[in-house]
Amino acid sequence: MICPVCKDAMIVVEYHNIELDYCNSCKGVWFDTGELELLLESHGIEETKTFLDGILNSQEAVSSEKQRNCPICGRKMKKTAIGGQTEILIDICHDEHGLWFDGGEVTQLLRHLAGKHPPERDSREQLISFLEEVFEAPQ
Ligand SMILES: [Zn+2]
Ligand SMILES: [Zn+2]
Repeated sequence: MICPVCKDAMIVVEYHNIELDYCNSCKGVWFDTGELELLLESHGIEETKTFLDGILNSQEAVSSEKQRNCPICGRKMKKTAIGGQTEILIDICHDEHGLWFDGGEVTQLLRHLAGKHPPERDSREQLISFLEEVFEAPQ
């Protein structure tokens, strides 16, 4: 699959049977819709379905960030803002092929969710450190 930002080929990263596509150049991550749900669920983050539905059905955010195309169907994706104070701006395919996170945004999202749903700290912290290792490792 090709990165929607820099058009480089992405690499597939497998974690607990969840496959995600990762761009080594811009550190962005592509999740198929079901894969993000599995990732959140497998780490004790509750109300995943409601949360995802909320994102998928949310209004398009106004942003100066460049529009990106879905790496699966090639159509323009919509931008959606998640979170309160630290706003995370992600790109979603209108056909729900998946979600695009710029470098660091997955970690921001997990921290946001972790704050909302405090229990099961250990597994969540493991996940966060895993993601930091994979996605934000210094070169
Ligand atoms: Zn890229
Ligand atoms: Zn698509």
